Amino acid sequence: MARTKATRATTKSSSETAAEIAAEISEKVLAASARAVCAQAYSPYSHVRVGAALLAADGRVFTGCNVENASFGLTTCAERTVVCKAVSEGAREFVTIAIATAGARALPPCGACRQVLHEFAPKLRVLLVGARGKPRAVRLDQLLPSAFGPDHLRRKR
Ligand SMILES: [Zn+2]
Repeated sequence: MARTKATRATTKSSSETAAEIAAEISEKVLAASARAVCAQAYSPYSHVRVGAALLAADGRVFTGCNVENASFGLTTCAERTVVCKAVSEGAREFVTIAIATAGARALPPCGACRQVLHEFAPKLRVLLVGARGKPRAVRLDQLLPSAFGPDHLRRKR
């Protein structure tokens, strides 16, 4: 579904901005994409399946799942998986991320993922998607107030 919409969006007139095109991709599609990628989760230890769908400002949608490891500290959450996929494909600006779990209760991003998301989109819209019910929307700066970020490393001149 996301591919169809994104493909159609790229054929629109050049007078439309990337942001307008991106805005056309509905949050329902994003939530559905996040739910679908939960099936790819590699979670033999926690058995928690998480999927994330990230809408870039250019209209592309990237998806990712959690990838656990027997050395637990090496586990990668779905949110960080999708950010690495998107950045490696040249996307740097993001509009919305949908985070879905196969469980009934939506799960918020962990602290590490909040920090990674903040690097690229401090005011990112975050949709928390449970197996049932309507997604809950929150802004990243509400989840990670007073965040440390790239501005703190820039030298004052
Ligand atoms: Zn995480």
